[in-house]
Amino acid sequence: MKQAVEQGTLYVISAPSGAGKTSLVAAMLRNDEKLGVSVSHTTRPMRDGEVDGVNYHFVSRDAFELMISRGDFLEHADVFGNYYGTSHIWVRETLARGQDVILEIDWQGAEQVRRLMPECVSIFIVPPSAEALRGRLTGRGTDAPEVVERRLKEAAEECRHALAFDYLVVNDQFEVALADLLAIVRSQRLRMAVQQDRHRALLTGLSQ
Ligand code: GDP
Ligand code: ADP
Ligand code: 5GP
Repeated sequence: MKQAVEQGTLYVISAPSGAGKTSLVAAMLRNDEKLGVSVSHTTRPMRDGEVDGVNYHFVSRDAFELMISRGDFLEHADVFGNYYGTSHIWVRETLARGQDVILEIDWQGAEQVRRLMPECVSIFIVPPSAEALRGRLTGRGTDAPEVVERRLKEAAEECRHALAFDYLVVNDQFEVALADLLAIVRSQRLRMAVQQDRHRALLTGLSQ
């Protein structure tokens, strides 16, 4: 008989724009082959260097609204005047294969996912200061000055929702924040609920 595959863990990661979540998540994926990241759909314009289907699936507002009406999204939200959404098919199929999945989404999306999948593990990332956030957003050089200003204004709103998350990671030194994130993933994999299935024979043997 085929053994049932353990469900993967769903990680929801949110942060104010510019806190470093995209760079940190990319580094997590390089460090851990059991992790995958969901590629969101968005209506925002593509930045220089972004690739359709890799960073996002870039779609028109009409196409996005059609997807909403078809029920294609696990969650979706209006962030900074653009639509962003997570397609539920890939997420559910990947979790069912036993792979862990990261969603890099805003607080509104995190709230929806927590309601639908309360077993998810949610992590909020903050920069070490408001000045550092401004420096990173400007230094990234991907957004026009008015877009940077809007994102900075919205950062406070995003941070007002931090307490709803399971974990808080401060991205001051990149390598420290990365180690913190990998420690959270590692600790989830050591939970008794997960380990007791994986080590059933060992536990039974040791208990006799
Ligand atoms: P960056 O985070 O500054 O690189 O900016 P992005 O344009 O990549 O993302 C803008 C916002 O949209 C961020 O708050 C993301 O967390 C959020 N976001 C991205 N993808 C999704 C998604 O699929 N669903 C939701 N709800 N939010 C998303
Ligand atoms: P987000 O996805 O949260 O908007 P990014 O990953 O795009 O953030 O990071 C924003 C900018 O800050 C990028 O230019 C990135 O290289 C830089 N950055 C990320 N983490 C750190 C850090 N710990 N120290 C200094 N700069 C950082
Ligand atoms: P950016 O436009 O800089 O790539 O992303 C801006 C914000 O959109 C980030 O805070 C990011 O987390 C959020 N975001 C990206 N994809 C999604 C998504 O699929 N759903 C939600 N709710 N937010 C998203």
